[in-house]
Amino acid sequence: MVGGLLIAYAGVVAVATVAAWWGVHSREIAQARNASRQRSDAIAAALKGEIAERLKSDDRGAARALLADLAASQQLTTARVTLGDGTVVLDARDAAAVASKLPAKWPSSVASSASSLASREVVEVAGKGPIVIEIDAGEPTEAMSDLETFTLAGGGLCVAIVIGLGIAARRRTRSLAEVGDALAAIAAGEQDLKAVRVREALAGSGAAWNALVDELSTLRLRKRLEEASERRTSASVVATATSEDVVARLADSLWIGLVGLEPDMRVRYCNGAAGIFLGSTRDKLVGKPAAECFSDAAAKNELGKLADARSRARLIFETTVGEGEGATVLRVSARPLNGGGAMLVLEDVTQQRIADRSRNAFVEQATHELRTPLTNIRLCMEELLDAPESDVAKRAQHLNVVNQEVRRLERIVGDMLSISEIEAGTLQLTPADVRLAPVFEEIQADFTQQAKAKNLRLTFALPPKLPTMVGDRDKLTLAITNVLGNAIKYTPEGGDVTVSVRADDKELIVQIADTGIGMSPDDASKVFERFYRAKDPRVSKITGTGLGLALARDVVKLHGGDIGVESIKDKGSTFTIRVPLSAPLRHAA
Ligand code: ADP
Repeated sequence: MVGGLLIAYAGVVAVATVAAWWGVHSREIAQARNASRQRSDAIAAALKGEIAERLKSDDRGAARALLADLAASQQLTTARVTLGDGTVVLDARDAAAVASKLPAKWPSSVASSASSLASREVVEVAGKGPIVIEIDAGEPTEAMSDLETFTLAGGGLCVAIVIGLGIAARRRTRSLAEVGDALAAIAAGEQDLKAVRVREALAGSGAAWNALVDELSTLRLRKRLEEASERRTSASVVATATSEDVVARLADSLWIGLVGLEPDMRVRYCNGAAGIFLGSTRDKLVGKPAAECFSDAAAKNELGKLADARSRARLIFETTVGEGEGATVLRVSARPLNGGGAMLVLEDVTQQRIADRSRNAFVEQATHELRTPLTNIRLCMEELLDAPESDVAKRAQHLNVVNQEVRRLERIVGDMLSISEIEAGTLQLTPADVRLAPVFEEIQADFTQQAKAKNLRLTFALPPKLPTMVGDRDKLTLAITNVLGNAIKYTPEGGDVTVSVRADDKELIVQIADTGIGMSPDDASKVFERFYRAKDPRVSKITGTGLGLALARDVVKLHGGDIGVESIKDKGSTFTIRVPLSAPLRHAA
């Protein structure tokens, strides 16, 4: 009886225990499911913005990498992105299901879902359409199987109950031990949260622990996403800032001016060169009407044409900014832009225009200078031919003139060739031993006639003996005759021109002094520059190119020497040429 009662008692206790256990455990299962669902929701919500952002910029690769990373680190059973009609855009677990190509036009609505497990987030990808993000953080599978095992075992025999109770007790202690291990692992620095999950035993502590771990991993995930998003934003800010910066810096390093105009023809942008060319600063130019940036009426008129909406053609015009010496000649190319506004490209062509003017003057002078000796030669030859029987003295006189004029022609042609060589940077010396005495004799013979014609006293102060030097005879002669020619050219009638030559055992010194128009200190410092002519009205009346002294200086420098000038306005000038007798000759660059 007692035995029967005992068995009955044990049976009641067992049934009560089973009932209590069932109640507790099904609550744990529900809790676990809930936690998993919450985790899926949190992941999907955190992910949607990032995925949409990447798909918006057509970066499916980056979106895929993010999803795959999360699916692996969070042990997601489902991580999928679909279009409204179910086309799979990304799937971290089933690559085969992913559509290789997305339709050009995405469905604008989203079909309802068949899956009840996964968390679904619908998010709009700007400019494309809605996408569905499905995340499933997985079920507490171990707990499920434990439950099933237990259900099979539960409700029956006391033995089974007692065994079940024993197992439960062991599991509880085991799960507590696992939690302890996990805590120890975290304390030791374990970062991988799936490693510190414990098996969800049939006791509250394991599930509760895992819920905590899941929550922590969701938090960490959110933080990672936020960081990634911040990095991307700051990266794109840096990228845009940098590319704008680079473009602005490039534009500023250009030596052509760039001006961007608004549709109402106001300056919207200008680079540094444009500011300088227009004699202003960037700050002052921005916002100013384009026509006000230019002073001359022709430029304003041209810009007016640009503003005319019907004119789409490119305009090119030249305009002068500033006055006097500092005036700049600008070539302006204006191009209307699609959608209104225009772009102006400014080039400084001042030097080009000066060179053009000088070249024209040079051609003019060369023609003039060539014509005079040619006329003289023709006249002499005609006389010789007309009167073949004329006396010997007369014939000799004519032949002498022809000889002189031919030499003059040679000199002019030589000058022209040298000038073109200087301009091309190919002026070369042909060095040889140069006996200096005959050089000066020839020069004297060449210029005596010219000086006389202009009523100038030309004096040569030569030492009794002149040495021989190493150099290019023709080029040296050219340098000296250019300076001497100037002395005669820039000295009014009745003046004096003196050529003094000295030589020691090291160098030759030639001084050419005149009592001519002289020049200001500023002009004197510039006369050796190519194309430079003094700002003296008397100079502009005399033909010249501004190249003679530049050529003389180049030749002297190639011989290792130097040339200089001392001058007093209205009193005269003295040019001094110094050339070493045996310096190693430099070759033109
Ligand atoms: P140009 O063909 O003009 O004479 P140059 O190069 O020979 O060119 O001389 C440059 C300028 O130097 C001249 O235009 C003139 O203004 C000035 N110059 C040269 N020689 C003299 C001089 N002897 N007296 C005054 N001015 C001179």
